[in-house]
Amino acid sequence: MKIGFIGLGNMGAPMAANLAKAGHQVVGFDMANVAIDGVTMTASGAEAAAGAEVVITMLPNGEILRAVADQVIPAMDAGAALVDCSTVDVDSARAVADQAVGAGLLFVDAPVSGGTGGAAGGTLTFMAGGTDEAFAKAAPLFDIMGQKAVHCGAAGAGQSAKICNNMILGVTMLATCEAFALADKLGLDRQKMFDVVSTSSGYSWTMNTYCPAPGVGPKSPADNEYKPGFAAELMLKDLRLSQQAAVSANADTPMGELAQALYAQFVEEEDGQGMDFSAMLPRFEKRSRA
Ligand code: NAD
Repeated sequence: MKIGFIGLGNMGAPMAANLAKAGHQVVGFDMANVAIDGVTMTASGAEAAAGAEVVITMLPNGEILRAVADQVIPAMDAGAALVDCSTVDVDSARAVADQAVGAGLLFVDAPVSGGTGGAAGGTLTFMAGGTDEAFAKAAPLFDIMGQKAVHCGAAGAGQSAKICNNMILGVTMLATCEAFALADKLGLDRQKMFDVVSTSSGYSWTMNTYCPAPGVGPKSPADNEYKPGFAAELMLKDLRLSQQAAVSANADTPMGELAQALYAQFVEEEDGQGMDFSAMLPRFEKRSRA
């Protein structure tokens, strides 16, 4: 299959490399000067998109996605599919979907979870939104780049699933970290806290799999001086997208709102930039109630 790939950064580059390795003809474009094994680079997004059966985008945000879509959609052949794997706001995903469908194209929003390790290893999870026909066209490529793809519903449903999941993740991480900090102050040993909670009703992915306390539970960024992992600023980006969606859908999300405010404070006013999102534990540890 001829595939256009636009946005070859930390995630896009290994995803494109895996498609090329699987035998597809991959033509790429990025604003930055990048070279990827097996990928032919072009001078513009339109050039990468021309004649491609599928065009994949992996870009920083919705504004950039809309700008790239303006260049790429007119260059694509009717019946081809535009598959956006970036994490963007639901409104941008739906707007680009409408534009693509209006031009006779298929569209799938397919944000991922699994991070750069999942992108390199071809083990990402895709959360997809679009028609059955559009999903079917993209599915063989999801199989190469990932281990699981869930068709969540119509266009925008993939982004909706992603930001709801990550809102739970942010809120749960904060709850886990503040509970550890409270347990410390109550004189409770962290290992005992883990042993109880990880097998009781307070268990969660953030406690059991990604424990924010160093030396406790399976290996996690806490055991590597809180180097990401999943950076606090990326969590903040996703929490902002969930709040933007909550405002536009008129949903009451007070926990998500507070999680956004805490991560914003951590990243923008404290020392959270560049730290893993689980570094909220040492943050709470240093603080007292007032
Ligand atoms: P990145 O900044 O490393 O890559 C983005 C790439 O897009 C860059 O190479 C940049 O030069 C390019 N770009 C920007 N504007 C462009 C334009 N107009 N035309 C062409 N190329 C352009 O970011 P990333 O970590 O690869 O993340 C990409 C997306 O994936 C984001 O939406 C992010 O939220 C999401 N995501 C990232 C992770 C992660 O762990 N990094 C995990 C899940 C989802």
